[in-house]
Amino acid sequence: MADPKENVQMEKIVSLCKRRGFIFQSSEIYGGINGFWDYGPLGAELKRNVKELWWHAMTRQREDVVGLEATIIMSPAIWKASGHVDTFSDPMIDCKTCKGRFRADQTDEIPCPQKPSKCVNDCHGEKTAPRAFNLMFQTFVGPVQDDSAIAYLRPETAQAIFAQFKNVLETSRQKVPFGIAQTGKAFRNEVTPRNYTFRSREFEQMELEFFIKPDEAVEAIHGSVASVPTTGHPGEPQSNWGWQAWHQYWVEERVRFYEGIGLNRTTLAFHRQTPEELAHYARACVDILFKFPFSKRDEQGELKGEELEGIAARSDFDLSQHARFSGKPMGVFDDELRAAWGKLPKEKSDDLWRRYYDNRKRYLEKSGVAPEAAAKQATEDANGLAKGQYVPHVIEPSAGVDRLILALIANAYSETSKTDEKGKTETNVVLRFHPRVAPIKVGVLPLLKNKPELVAKALAVRDLLRPWMNVYYDDGGSIGRRYARQDEAGTPFCVTIDFDSLGEKPELLNTVTIRHRDDGRQERVAISDLVNWLLPQIR
Ligand code: ATP
Repeated sequence: MADPKENVQMEKIVSLCKRRGFIFQSSEIYGGINGFWDYGPLGAELKRNVKELWWHAMTRQREDVVGLEATIIMSPAIWKASGHVDTFSDPMIDCKTCKGRFRADQTDEIPCPQKPSKCVNDCHGEKTAPRAFNLMFQTFVGPVQDDSAIAYLRPETAQAIFAQFKNVLETSRQKVPFGIAQTGKAFRNEVTPRNYTFRSREFEQMELEFFIKPDEAVEAIHGSVASVPTTGHPGEPQSNWGWQAWHQYWVEERVRFYEGIGLNRTTLAFHRQTPEELAHYARACVDILFKFPFSKRDEQGELKGEELEGIAARSDFDLSQHARFSGKPMGVFDDELRAAWGKLPKEKSDDLWRRYYDNRKRYLEKSGVAPEAAAKQATEDANGLAKGQYVPHVIEPSAGVDRLILALIANAYSETSKTDEKGKTETNVVLRFHPRVAPIKVGVLPLLKNKPELVAKALAVRDLLRPWMNVYYDDGGSIGRRYARQDEAGTPFCVTIDFDSLGEKPELLNTVTIRHRDDGRQERVAISDLVNWLLPQIR
């Protein structure tokens, strides 16, 4: 269980989120609905910023990634091919005494419905054997509600990327290696939603499928596959990279992204999946974890962290499945490979042919193809490789928006206390968001609201900044109160318009005070320089 002290921390965070309009329970006026959350005014801005930063980093700032925006409901055949219809399930158990329903792998953490303050192990009720419970939400397409009309709300955004791979490839002028990125809603009927928004039933994902050549193709072209150190960023992508270098690259790129929005490495932890944990087709998977206040602790007392994102090397499984199930080829033709293969010494080409054949045969057999048919298909595939054809492999960095929002809020949360001369202590919350994600970038405050000249200039400053960033104008209450309100919302800068701005000290005419949230520092900046002063800090 998480340390009680840290559950207090979670309670404070949850209460702040409600009080300041970051997160509300969905359908709250009707008693709520378990596992669904709404984002209020500040939360909506924070979420939008995060998704835009991700999109910017993953697509617009790169030559080799393009975007996609697919539908939530797709042909159910997609989920058959992906394996979700047959295997996307959690082990569920029922308690015969308290009638509670739990995930078999998490019974130590689930409250007993009869005695909510106790955990299920205190209930001591007899439990049923675990049963597989499919996590996909079902619906019907069209007016007739029979089996032929069943469709699913997507449980991940990734599959649309695979299904549209060929269309994107043909229209985007990209060549392998390249990626397709998508953000959007995903739905999972989690048995036990928990830890606030961490495990929800409706959530948002930010996923990249980065398609690469199989190692055999890289080796045929370059003589060998580049070896990379297993830690640290491997640097700019190179054409002789195999899946390991690309995987390492994306893990490190994603960590850089998190660092760039205020989650430094010490707040993160990593879990490299063991061979037992890996799916049969996956070559490796590294989970990036954030140390949430509700995370468990290791033997040294360190928070272990919970998954924010998984970066998986998924081989050519996904495209191969869609090729088999749809009957549409998903392979690409690579001129460079065909030319290089023709020049290979026989020993080398035989070796590469055999390795590719073995990999394809293993995949086909694991996917249920009979050995003879698998051998025939693998032979065709390896012959195809020799002619420059292959099914791309994929590296998949898959992140959850909502978990990241919660991590950013937990990371930003801090309290400051001040004791006045009468000994009365006041504690204020400061959300120390990185300015890039902060929901409000700048608060614009006239020193007094009953001085029309101050108000007019402050409104002019607000209008000057508005086209560039989210601005909050506030003229209510003492300046100290207004600073405190912005601190609690995580606003990194406040701009105050005072009498000097109006020229009381002539040399300060048309200047304003900028107050920094984190250390209270103040500096004087000309109104005409404000946009240029602020922009580099918030982008
Ligand atoms: P977990 O093991 O925590 O259930 P997962 O490994 O099933 O997660 P993936 O299928 O890899 O998750 O999904 C990619 C990302 O989507 C996760 O890293 C997480 O950030 C997010 N995600 C998955 N399930 C949920 C959920 N129920 N609520 C919120 N975010 C989720």
